[in-house]
Amino acid sequence: MTEFEFIYNFLAKQQDSDVLLGIGDDAAIVRPHAGYDLCFSSDMLISDRHFFADAAPADIAHKVLAVNVSDMAAMGAMPRWVLLSAAFPELNEVWLSEFCGTLFEQLSQYGITLIGGDTTRGNLTFNITIVGEVAKGQGLRRSSARVGDDIWVSGWLGMAAAALDGFWGKAVFPENVWRSCREKLLRPVPRVALGCELLMLAHAAQDVSDGLVQDLGHILKASKVGAELWADCVPVLPALRECSTVEQLRVWPLSGGDDYELLFTAPKAAREQILAAGEASNTPVARIGKIVEGTHLQILDHAGNEIHLNKTGFDHFG
Ligand code: ADP
Ligand code: MG
Repeated sequence: MTEFEFIYNFLAKQQDSDVLLGIGDDAAIVRPHAGYDLCFSSDMLISDRHFFADAAPADIAHKVLAVNVSDMAAMGAMPRWVLLSAAFPELNEVWLSEFCGTLFEQLSQYGITLIGGDTTRGNLTFNITIVGEVAKGQGLRRSSARVGDDIWVSGWLGMAAAALDGFWGKAVFPENVWRSCREKLLRPVPRVALGCELLMLAHAAQDVSDGLVQDLGHILKASKVGAELWADCVPVLPALRECSTVEQLRVWPLSGGDDYELLFTAPKAAREQILAAGEASNTPVARIGKIVEGTHLQILDHAGNEIHLNKTGFDHFG
């Protein structure tokens, strides 16, 4: 198969009335809805760094899209368009069919159109650039947390990190826990519906991808505030909690990566509405701390003792 057979037979298949020019020209032209701002983000996944090189092509497709969609969720934006740049060691028809099958299934589930990209030969690498829309001026930022805000997080944390330790043989789980954690690592489900519900409600938001404590640090720095984080309130899958050690329950949920949950702050007065937003989007949300004055992040256990972590999250060059 040639590069162009791949592009035109595998990739150019979607219709979108807001795409004036799609795959096949030097650049795509899209028409955003009137009254909306555009959000842009880009995330790269490299084999054996972000996914196992021998992972199922369907799982790779799922993840490469999900991590990008999660960035739109963090902005409260609706994902609309993506560009996909990819390097493949070879164009293997069976591999690519499976990859593209899941990619397009996922794209259509979110209402996203693939509008372009680049294809080259090389070590298996993917980069998606995603474009989303958010009502004018409403995009959620990291810099808007205020003293007195509650800190919230969606879903259960630490499952992907637990699964990674399972893959590396550093932890063993009962079958049902292993299945849930593995699914969360391989096929994260970004919180788009919750993100949209949080517009006009949350002050600051971001997605948790590199470890809760590290990512919360980004909000604190951007907002020039401090926080109290209640470690024992961080939601963990009950069955995972049951089979984990105290040490694992400090590490996986607090500093493990790949959660793709939403971390956000909101005023106390919005508590009822935040819970309603969770219900409306079918997403569990939990209150895990509060924003305070200063710049320090204090992590406390249920007895009020301070916890010190060796590692707060993932850093490619750390
Ligand atoms: P150019 O030479 O202008 O870079 P190419 O010949 O590389 O364009 O690509 C032809 C068309 O195919 C372009 O519209 C480009 O956006 C699209 N394309 C190439 N690779 C991909 C890909 N992996 N996913 C989506 N579209 C792609
Ligand atoms: Mg060109």
